[in-house]
Amino acid sequence: MAGRGIVIGGGIVGLSIAIGLASSNMEVIVLDGSDADNRASYGNAGLIWVQSKGADHLPYALWSRRSASMWPEFSERLLEQTGIDVEYERRGGLSLCLDETELAARRAMVDQVAAQLGTQNDVEFVDAAFVRDRLPGVSPHVLGASWCPADGHVNPLMLMGALKKRCDALGVTIRRNSRVEAVRMEGSHLTVMGADFRMRGERVVVAAGLATEKLAATAGMTVPLKPVRGQIVVTERMKRVIDYPTPTIRQARCGSVIFGNSHEEDVTATGTTLPVMASHAQRAMAEFPFLASARVLRSWGAIRVMPVDGKPIYARSIDCPGAYAVACHSGITLTAVHANIIGPAIAADCLPRAVATLSPERFDAVAHH
Ligand SMILES: Cc1cc2nc3c(=O)[nH]c(=O)nc-3n(C[C@H](O)[C@H](O)[C@H](O)COP(=O)(O)OP(=O)(O)OC[C@H]3O[C@@H](n4cnc5c(N)ncnc54)[C@H](O)[C@@H]3O)c2cc1C
Repeated sequence: MAGRGIVIGGGIVGLSIAIGLASSNMEVIVLDGSDADNRASYGNAGLIWVQSKGADHLPYALWSRRSASMWPEFSERLLEQTGIDVEYERRGGLSLCLDETELAARRAMVDQVAAQLGTQNDVEFVDAAFVRDRLPGVSPHVLGASWCPADGHVNPLMLMGALKKRCDALGVTIRRNSRVEAVRMEGSHLTVMGADFRMRGERVVVAAGLATEKLAATAGMTVPLKPVRGQIVVTERMKRVIDYPTPTIRQARCGSVIFGNSHEEDVTATGTTLPVMASHAQRAMAEFPFLASARVLRSWGAIRVMPVDGKPIYARSIDCPGAYAVACHSGITLTAVHANIIGPAIAADCLPRAVATLSPERFDAVAHH
């Protein structure tokens, strides 16, 4: 064994990294909170979405694409290893434009991404005929879309189940109701403290969702986050017609259409509100008129783990050697790089160069500006 790795937080980020640590021969313990906690991993839209990612920051654009490119093999291996099909699909994604204002904004986004990615660009603007060809049920009012063949989607609940099963097979211990209060050095020992327990490890990874900011601070790391609520609506099962997801609509393999995905800044209450749900429904029907007759089965609100600048944060503690923190908004998209790259890198006590500009130092630069 290469020593003990303690992961704080059993959401998608914590479990992905736990798999990476355990695959690198560490003894891994995940300390998770309680069912009363905010858990974005159980309330998200399930998109593996890259087209708009890092439009203003090349390393983030490349990091998202690297994860998306690992997803086909990652999901196949999860199926072999766990027997769980996470319903991963990658046919490409379309971000639809319904009026001239949206069209202009989308063209600007496509140009910005193209300028960032240069020869590696994978996003283009496509016309209404291209969209109609792929989305037969789409509104005749759609004027065009941005298109990226790397976009896809997954069933996030099946994914959580598969990651837990993989953790079990790798010997990872997941301890529920084990709220951590601080990460400190006790002499030369990296120590995790709870109200009634303390534990030592060679590595500690804080991946506790929105609680990461406070916990990371106890080990001297700056991880500024903000809560952003998203509301999501799910319809009854319908004949499969939406083969290509948009940023706000996807059709699951079972036929349910999942739509919505609001961004409500600084809202910490889960739950739904009628005005937001109504605007989701209006947009969904404007894009796909056949949804007007769909019955809604359920809806929910969940809180995003949003870094203040929207980009993932990968922190390495100076005060507590061996301690790290990871927080990101797109935890589903980034699952593959977290399991395949971040976990093994932390086991080797480093972070990969690919995420160098995603460290918290960027916030110091802003503060000193
Ligand atoms: C509405 C919505 C839509 C989204 N859509 C997408 C999408 O389409 N694609 C995508 O890639 N991402 C999406 N996301 C983002 C994605 O869900 C998150 O990035 C991801 O779930 C974050 O996972 P996490 O493990 O960091 O946090 P969480 O899932 O919040 O898990 C944190 C865990 O830490 C535990 N914890 C908290 N405090 C402590 C403590 N003190 N001690 C021990 N454990 C603790 C909690 O119990 C919890 O289990 C969406 C999010 C939302 C809300």
